[in-house]
Amino acid sequence: MRTRSWLSAVIVLFASTADDAGAQAARDTSESTMRAMSTLTGPGWHAQGDGFTSTLTYRWIFEDRLLEAVNELQDGAGRVIARYHGEYAWDPGAREIVFWTASTAGELHRGRASWRDGVLWHEATVAGGRIERYASALRVRDGRMEYFADYGTGTATPELLGLAPLVYHRQTGAAPAGTFGQQVLEIRTASGTPLEEHGREQLRRLIATYDVDRWLFTRTVQIQSRVIPHSHPTLTLNTQYIQNDTAQLATFLHEQFHWYLSAKPDSAMHELRGELRSRYPNAPDRGPEGARDLDSTYLHLMVCTLEYEATAAVFGREVARRTLESWRHYTWVYRTVLADNEELVKLLERHGVSIDDASVSG
Ligand SMILES: [Zn+2]
Repeated sequence: MRTRSWLSAVIVLFASTADDAGAQAARDTSESTMRAMSTLTGPGWHAQGDGFTSTLTYRWIFEDRLLEAVNELQDGAGRVIARYHGEYAWDPGAREIVFWTASTAGELHRGRASWRDGVLWHEATVAGGRIERYASALRVRDGRMEYFADYGTGTATPELLGLAPLVYHRQTGAAPAGTFGQQVLEIRTASGTPLEEHGREQLRRLIATYDVDRWLFTRTVQIQSRVIPHSHPTLTLNTQYIQNDTAQLATFLHEQFHWYLSAKPDSAMHELRGELRSRYPNAPDRGPEGARDLDSTYLHLMVCTLEYEATAAVFGREVARRTLESWRHYTWVYRTVLADNEELVKLLERHGVSIDDASVSG
């Protein structure tokens, strides 16, 4: 009896470990595949069709896991003629993106989707509507979104892209986007490649979508592929996170907080470093655990705490935590910032350092 219960405990342990490994693999795949959906989120999309308009809005329910899509169709007089509400989710069993959409008229679409060559392909069956199936493709480029659909087939092939698309543009004005980004930010590209231009578009959109005005301590930003992001002399971001808004905005805020701290009196910074040194005497003095030297590691305890607080203010604490946990640089710093968050925030505040401190902005 004792042997059996011991054995079953081992089996349970083994099974749960295997589950964890499986869940991890599924999560990795889900994130890399679903994350591309971030190109769709943000301000809504608006298209003028033949006798109708369509407004499409995408929003994360669980970041990189579950995406909501809402489509509202209006006639020429502005009356709503149909609303579609759907969700995309990663199916870890089938290892593909699945989606479903319901309409106010009782139509139900069910299907699967995949990203190939920068295009989101859909294959769906329809119940309760005039059609039974369709294949469609969504292509985002140059700030436009093109929607190609064939209602005669349920198989998505490259031929779809030869059809006349319905063209969507980002909504402006009434969208929440108009609320922010009133402060002028000059965004340059290092060499003007299409990738860097995309990076510039992304940052413009992020600044317009999220309320980060109060953390713009430098107004000149450069987008440069294949460099490590840095703050001085010009705040520079790369194009690694062009598909990951959260990561790009967190990185941007990180570099902005370097500017914030560099405007603080030397005496305050000296005292802060001293306190951090006595609190963390064994901090690493090199990467990837620490920064390039001990001084920089202590500086990054401050910068990364501010990065965490600001990212949490924008995206919520869970998303902020997941973003900071994913960094492969300053790993000890980020671990410490996440573990000792409350103490570090209080320590910084005692020296007048916080994300709510507007004294050096403007
Ligand atoms: Zn830094």
